[in-house]
Amino acid sequence: MTGWTPIDCHAHTTMSDGALSIEELIDTVRARGVRPSIADHLSTDVSQAVKSIEGVREYLDALEPYDVARGGEFCWHDPLWRELPSDLSARFTHKLGSLHAVHIPGASRPLSMWHRELPSELTAAAYMSLHLDELERFAAEMPVDILSHPTLLPLPIRELPEDELWTDALEERLVDALFHAEIAFEISNRYRPHERLVKRAHDRGVRLSLGSDGHTRAQVGDLAFPLEMAMRVGAETHSLFDPYVHGTRAAR
Ligand SMILES: [Zn+2]
Ligand SMILES: [Zn+2]
Repeated sequence: MTGWTPIDCHAHTTMSDGALSIEELIDTVRARGVRPSIADHLSTDVSQAVKSIEGVREYLDALEPYDVARGGEFCWHDPLWRELPSDLSARFTHKLGSLHAVHIPGASRPLSMWHRELPSELTAAAYMSLHLDELERFAAEMPVDILSHPTLLPLPIRELPEDELWTDALEERLVDALFHAEIAFEISNRYRPHERLVKRAHDRGVRLSLGSDGHTRAQVGDLAFPLEMAMRVGAETHSLFDPYVHGTRAAR
């Protein structure tokens, strides 16, 4: 035994859209032999979320008394993270950035990943090119430690075979952007990435992070798939993202 214990870097409580209190989440995750962290939605564009700077302060105050890593999931397309003062920023053990919506040139509002259709005449391949453009802007600008669920895509194309969506060139762009920005690649249990992309990220030197993206008792701390995937691509347990060792990034 090495004494290493995995940590779930991405899980939600009732402070956003999760079902568990802070205590319930901590107890549930620990009972699975996993270290807990809390990363609730901090965004004006998620219906149940912390939506203001004052709210972020209260959120961090609520987490402070507990032995739990203090994360937060920010939407790239939402302005709240840009307004975060440095004293609050420094209180996070780790921050996650999510592409829950992507800017489409000419469109009046960003395209949500849960919107039921793509703009007309936008093919899956054309969308993927725009998605990677956005991903590169995200990596260059957003001061986060982890890219949440890197393979979350719009509903109409989400279930297409990965080979129809992800070309070698697109995968290279993704892992290069994360590598240069020193942003970790989340192996999400909820939106599961394909092995070829995880391996490419690992081989490129991008750190891997384990996340349940759990919202319920059954989900939080469930890292069986992410951990197995990390081991399959050859990652060492001690190299996996640990907020206490590798977070949090200073604002750039
Ligand atoms: Zn998310
Ligand atoms: Zn989440």
